[in-house]
Order: sequence, then C-alpha cells, then structure tokens
Amino acid sequence: MLDVRKIRLILELRESGISNVEVLSAIEKIPREEFISETYRNQAYENIALPIENNQTISQPYVVARMTELLDVKKNHKVLEIGTGSGYQCAILSILARRVYTIERIKNLHEASNKIFDKLKLTNIVSKYNDGNNGWVEQVPFDRIIFTAASKKINNKIFSHIDNEGVIICPIEKNNKQILIKYIKKNNEIISEEYDDVLFVPNLQGVV
Ligand code: SAH
Repeated sequence: MLDVRKIRLILELRESGISNVEVLSAIEKIPREEFISETYRNQAYENIALPIENNQTISQPYVVARMTELLDVKKNHKVLEIGTGSGYQCAILSILARRVYTIERIKNLHEASNKIFDKLKLTNIVSKYNDGNNGWVEQVPFDRIIFTAASKKINNKIFSHIDNEGVIICPIEKNNKQILIKYIKKNNEIISEEYDDVLFVPNLQGVV
C-alpha cells in the first residue's frame, strides 16, 4: 500500500517540476513514515507538511525535493543542515552527499532523529545539539549549507563556512513572506537568486 502511495508521490513531484533523478530516487529510498508519529503515519506519502513533536513540522515533500535540487549536491560533498527537525531532509541529503552534519536546537528532536538515523543505518550523518546559527566551526569548510527554518538574514560567520563555488539555501523572511534564496559564493562575492515562496517555522536562538 505504501509503495503505491510512494510511486504516486514521485509522479506528483515530477509533474510539479522536480526533474533531478538522483533527488527523486533518494525520496524513493528513504521511508518518510519513519520520521512521522503514529497519528499521521497514514499521510506519510501525501505531499503535505505534517506536525512533529515540540510544535515543529516535517517539511512538505515538494519543498524537500525543491531545496535539495537547488542545493545541487554532489557525491563528494560535505553538507551542513541547520534545523534537523524530524531528520527527513537530512536523510535525503545523506543519500546524495559524502557526509551530512546537522544541528538541532531542541534536545528532544535531536535525540529522536538520531534514533531514526541509527535504525535506517544512515552512517554518514553527524548530528549536534546546539544553536545552528553558530555553525560548525570544527568542520569548516562545507560545500553546501541548508537552513530548514526561516531566518531574517544569514550571519557573516555562516558565509565564511563555505568555499568558493559553495552554495547556501535558506528560507528568508521578507515583506511578511518567506522566500527560498540560493546564495552562491563566487570569487569571494555572494550572488543571490530568489525562488519559491515557502512556509517554515522560525529560526530561533539558543537551545531548549
Ligand atoms: N529539516 C526538517 C525541518 C524541521 S522544522 C525536517 O525535514 O523535518 C525546522 C527545525 O529547525 C525545527 O526542528 C527547529 O527546532 C529547528 N531550528 C530552528 N532554529 C534553529 C537553530 N537556530 N538552530 C538549530 N535548529 C533550529
């Protein structure tokens, strides 16, 4: 039953314009139901965001696919994710990248996602319980950075976490909306491109 729903979701993502076959195949490989509580599990392959613990959300599959596609991840890349949440986006990235470092500010979610990574044997994920806005200094530089919580702006420290040709994707709050912005570092300058309107929980400071 889940397989039929999963195939339908993949077709829906393709129809919505997701064309990167590696991204689609990563979505096919990772069981989204594992990241969702019993209550909502029957909706795991619907193209919608769902509630997770601590009033947070697992992103809509289309948004995960879109952000992953825009991030342009290569097999040799080291990726940083800020906002582990359920761990689903991180699991998708772990299929495409060499290693994924992920940071979560809510201890409960950090611990729950680690258990799922272990269960699914996603051994190239390294996670940390911290405020992600501090970045992960010991592991600099990253090839790619993804924020999965909406920020007003990205601090300069994070921009120094990527090398030339590095990419950062982040939902940015602008005029009462959130827009997906892709930042590319070229010859020590940052170029930005705007994409879809999105709806993410806010990027908050400190840990809980
Ligand atoms: N990528 C997640 C999306 C979860 S929602 C998924 O696939 O499920 C965003 C998450 O970002 C929440 O869990 C929230 O606690 C976390 N978050 C918000 N601000 C943060 C910060 N400054 N540092 C680390 N995590 C943060």
